[in-house]
Amino acid sequence: MKILIVNAGSSSLKYQLIDMDNEQTLAKGLVERIGMAENGHHECKVNGEKIVDWAEDKIVDHVQGCKMMLAALTDAEKGAVKSMDEISAVGHRVLHGGSKFSESMIINDEVIAAIEENIPLGPLHNPANLMGIKACQEVMPSTPMVAVFDTAFHQTMPPKAYMYGLPYEIYEKHHVRRYGFHGTSHRFVSKRTAEFLGKKPEDLRIITAHLGNGSSLAAVEYGKCVDTSMGLTPLEGVLMGTRSGNLDPAVVEFVCDKENLTVGQMLNLCNKKSGLLGISGISNDMRDVDNAAKEGHPRAQLARDMLVYGIRKYIGSYAAAMNGVDVIVFTAGIGENNYGLREDIMAGFEYMGAKLDKEKNAALAWPNVHEAVISADDSKVLICVIPTNEEIAIARDTLELVSK
Ligand code: AMP
Repeated sequence: MKILIVNAGSSSLKYQLIDMDNEQTLAKGLVERIGMAENGHHECKVNGEKIVDWAEDKIVDHVQGCKMMLAALTDAEKGAVKSMDEISAVGHRVLHGGSKFSESMIINDEVIAAIEENIPLGPLHNPANLMGIKACQEVMPSTPMVAVFDTAFHQTMPPKAYMYGLPYEIYEKHHVRRYGFHGTSHRFVSKRTAEFLGKKPEDLRIITAHLGNGSSLAAVEYGKCVDTSMGLTPLEGVLMGTRSGNLDPAVVEFVCDKENLTVGQMLNLCNKKSGLLGISGISNDMRDVDNAAKEGHPRAQLARDMLVYGIRKYIGSYAAAMNGVDVIVFTAGIGENNYGLREDIMAGFEYMGAKLDKEKNAALAWPNVHEAVISADDSKVLICVIPTNEEIAIARDTLELVSK
């Protein structure tokens, strides 16, 4: 069975076709600059070979983007499938499921209405995700579709973890609370960690550190998420590529006044110009920040130190939240590839029973990245690297739901 995974942004459509018999990616593509006046672009690779690299004058909307995607996938000569009928289902990544969705759902009118209802919580992503869903429905009307929510895994958090200390009515009226994101990754990685260790998720307290351009940590207690670092939006938590992470909310008004910014402009600053980029002044990419820090650039070093410190604080607090921790697992671009950062993050955690094996850790560096235990043999807490794979997680959910 072949399943198509779609991740629609406001001007892009990222897709992947997966053969579920062996979970291999058959094709992967990206339609970009949808709805923009010019320079639309579509790239598609089938079995690793680029079969399409088109510049389009203008890609009018997501429907045209979807048609381009299908044309490439079913291309008579180089396509991954002979016809659309070979695609059994589509799994859509949806950012915000609010409090309604604690698991993936077959898409029907009710689910679409609920995603619409959640637009105030995910004003940038949910409308884009919906455009992707509706466009796919238009060009593949008889193919079942599934929505997989970034927030769903965190729905098991107890109120004491997800509430903000605002008047309760604000929560009741406007659903302002912590939701958390990267849920598909935290779920995939925590489950896979247990499997890899030959244990059951129900027997483990796991801290998952998803460290990429966007970063979040989660406390997964006996298979259930009990806390996570992102909040109402993905802005809360540790320092990220371009996001500030935690701030005293009073900073917003203060900076708005001083810099003559609207709240919207200030939030844009917090989301797009802060974090590693804003502190270092060099780049949002950890590799650039690392290199600059090694060359003695003080602000790059500061950005790196802030990231490490913030992650360490979450690890400590999640160990406290779960009355201990059995496994700490690193994943995503930085977590999987950057052994130097892992070493600095885990330094001095012996008091908690977590001791890194520096050699095992350093041996696990790009491009030699794979599932591994990197803690010392006598470490009570296991430290692991488990590469994430959100597309496979979405494809598995889709398969399961459409097979029912
Ligand atoms: P992600 O958002 O998961 O794609 O992660 C992006 C981050 O991962 C960037 O900050 C990169 O610096 C980092 N990253 C990606 N690949 C590598 C690599 N091969 N070595 C070190 N860092 C990497």
